[in-house]
Amino acid sequence: MKKTGYVYEDIFMQHDLPDHPENATRLSAILNYLNECDIMPKLSRIPARPATPNELQRCHHPLYIEMVEDTCRFGGGMLDGDTYTTEYSFDAALHAAGGVIDLTKAVVNGELDNGFALVRPPGHHAVPSSAMGFCLFGTAAIAARAARRDLKLDRIAVLDFDVHHGNGTQAILNEDPHIFFASSHQYPFYPGTGALREIGRGPGEGAILNIPLSVMTGDDGIKRLYCEAMFPALRRFEPQLILISAGYDAHWQDPLANIGLTLNGYRWLCEGLIALAEEICNGNIVFILEGGYNLDVLAPGVGNTFRALLGINEFDDPIGKCPWKEPDVNDLLSEIKRVHRL
Ligand SMILES: [Zn+2]
Repeated sequence: MKKTGYVYEDIFMQHDLPDHPENATRLSAILNYLNECDIMPKLSRIPARPATPNELQRCHHPLYIEMVEDTCRFGGGMLDGDTYTTEYSFDAALHAAGGVIDLTKAVVNGELDNGFALVRPPGHHAVPSSAMGFCLFGTAAIAARAARRDLKLDRIAVLDFDVHHGNGTQAILNEDPHIFFASSHQYPFYPGTGALREIGRGPGEGAILNIPLSVMTGDDGIKRLYCEAMFPALRRFEPQLILISAGYDAHWQDPLANIGLTLNGYRWLCEGLIALAEEICNGNIVFILEGGYNLDVLAPGVGNTFRALLGINEFDDPIGKCPWKEPDVNDLLSEIKRVHRL
């Protein structure tokens, strides 16, 4: 069995607004599942510390960081139409980023084989100077920059399979040739970005791959797009580390979106990414929790990802097949191959 690490702190539960879809029951459902299925005792916990101002400022404007801190110090409030804070949110977001940085370090240094950070609030919509879409700080981008600066890695990939485009991660990394950002997401959809033609700018041109999915694309279409475009693009970039923005809201039963992945499809995707990391970067892979709003999907989905990380050949799908008919992905696939010369 692999040595798989995880990050969790009670502070992640203190960032909470019970009627909001991104609330603390998401994490408690995951923890209950991991305990009930006897997965938790097989994992090694990495304690989370707050990220330092320097680590945050590689991705976010100092005035924005100060504004979030001040808002929380005075009891919290809404930062945009759908992003809340409480008095604990700043602290939770700092621990989320610091925890992912240290989990990544433990994986790259070989103390752990791989890992999954069970953190909240999520991060992939937060742009350099503002909060967005339930996200305060770009945890995945912050961890990628830390790995580049402090672990001296030259090439890192961030792959985002949340159903929403990781616009914040893309905005932060848009001109960075050392960090490849790839995202598959429902499109057109919230947050509006993630078109196929968005490929990075200046020195970062070509280091962004967007796979915009039509509604009802499911297991078959996503398998083809990953096998024929996503995996070849990652192989070509030759990352030394793969960070995954793991959102479970592309499942057909998620209440916020309309993509048709099943839990079996998610298992295939996670196993494929773990196998790819073993093939190209010594197994260096760290998953980071982003979205996923149906708890009956989220808990077994994360549980199956842990099983795949540990190398346990079991999986759980209490929900089953998607009844929708999938759209054809041939034209999308040829266009991705043409734009990215794959
Ligand atoms: Zn999402």
